Amino acid sequence: MTASERKKLIRPSDANSWSLCTRRVWLDNKAQFKPDSNEDAFEQMVIDLGVNHEQAVLQAISKTHSVKTATSPDDTNRLMSERCPVIYQAQLLDEDHGIVGFPDFLILSDSGEYQAADAKLSQNESKKPIQVQLGVYRRLLRKMHGSQLPALVFLGNGEHAEIGDEANPLSNQFITEMRKLLADEEEPLVRYGHSKCRACPYNVHCKPQFQVNGELTLLYGVQEQAAAGLENAGIKTISQLADTDPNAIPDVPYLKKQDKKQRAVLQAKSYLTGEIFQHTATMLPEGQWVHFDIEDNPLTGTGQKHVYLWGFLTPVSPGSLEQGSFEYVWTDTSDEDQQGWLQFLAKVEQYKQQYPQLILSHYSNHEKSTIQSYAKRYGMEENETVNYLLGTDSPLFDLQKPVLASLVLPLQGYGLKDICKHPDLVNFQWQDEGSGSQWSVVQFNRFIGETNPATKQRLKDEILGYNKDDVTATLRLEEWLRVNYTAG
Ligand code: SF4
Repeated sequence: MTASERKKLIRPSDANSWSLCTRRVWLDNKAQFKPDSNEDAFEQMVIDLGVNHEQAVLQAISKTHSVKTATSPDDTNRLMSERCPVIYQAQLLDEDHGIVGFPDFLILSDSGEYQAADAKLSQNESKKPIQVQLGVYRRLLRKMHGSQLPALVFLGNGEHAEIGDEANPLSNQFITEMRKLLADEEEPLVRYGHSKCRACPYNVHCKPQFQVNGELTLLYGVQEQAAAGLENAGIKTISQLADTDPNAIPDVPYLKKQDKKQRAVLQAKSYLTGEIFQHTATMLPEGQWVHFDIEDNPLTGTGQKHVYLWGFLTPVSPGSLEQGSFEYVWTDTSDEDQQGWLQFLAKVEQYKQQYPQLILSHYSNHEKSTIQSYAKRYGMEENETVNYLLGTDSPLFDLQKPVLASLVLPLQGYGLKDICKHPDLVNFQWQDEGSGSQWSVVQFNRFIGETNPATKQRLKDEILGYNKDDVTATLRLEEWLRVNYTAG
């Protein structure tokens, strides 16, 4: 097989990129340039944890089986013909169909067939890339060695799962699409998607062209299907949408209601001019506002995230917009998870007594859904404080709701940082520019592994500083809304 033939091989490890964006996987395989290599500490941490997990699985298997490492497709075939009990880093090459797969393990079963297995950090096997990858390994083993066994996944929570025939349609789709993509000399046409593109290493390559084209999906709230519908109706660019009377826009998928059409047109105008539009009055409840934000670690290895920090910013005096004191509940490890949760509930009780009209303000649904999942985790759905937090007279107030309901802003995403950092909007800057929720997970995992008390304390202080900035940002957002957009 020549080098250029090898280059065109379909690799199941491309399933992750493929599931995110067809252009991304095409660029991975065919681009003549390197993608942006933004040092991403979070991604690196996930990679390191994945390698550690694979090594832990290898060690566990090695205790009961003889394991040999394969060095090539031929070597894999040789080890299989020798009936090696476990082949590590196997290489399955199907030259006829141009597919090469690299399962972490091939395990010889009692039936005499080999079974493909991978170690995955994920907590469940239903994720698309896992289904595709293991589904293709099965297909390779079936064709080359007649094995009918399901593939195995050693999950990050210590459990294992099987992947059988149910993954065939998806893995067949992957192979068909990849074959076509690898044969194409042109970059596939795709649409912009804010969540997929902003974290993509090819953003610098793709986004300028989307902007030049006035791609409709650059607008917040205009999804792929809506953009296709608008284009069919002759509205092909952001400028054209900005100039369209909302009443003249036909019903298209995800853009059927009049207020959504109106919002899309305003979003187009705002994108072009930077103007802010207020289409309804901004309503904020009166009371004593305590700003609230949590930090959690999803990488616990148990499948349950650990909220290590429940942070609050109290008012100087009831109703004041001045910054009061930063208070918090912190736990060092997930072993203290329940203790942290109970301390959080005690803190809520304290605020309830202290502030008769308590408003526990947070940004987005994350805090509320976390309280719901913790109540379930500890069988406390009937607890009095939980009922107070989640009942009809809940003090919880999601500050994102009035923003989305009443304002159209020159933004592509309406996250807290998008709004607060923008110099023409709230213009609040975090002390550590590089901080963020993933940054805080990285810092916390460093904190867990750190043995030097001084360094440990510094890491904790940095995380507390970041959380304090988060709650200060929601206070500043409240202030910005009150001063500029509420009737009173
Ligand atoms: S920037 Fe967006 S469109 Fe371009 S490759 Fe990445 S995800 Fe795909």
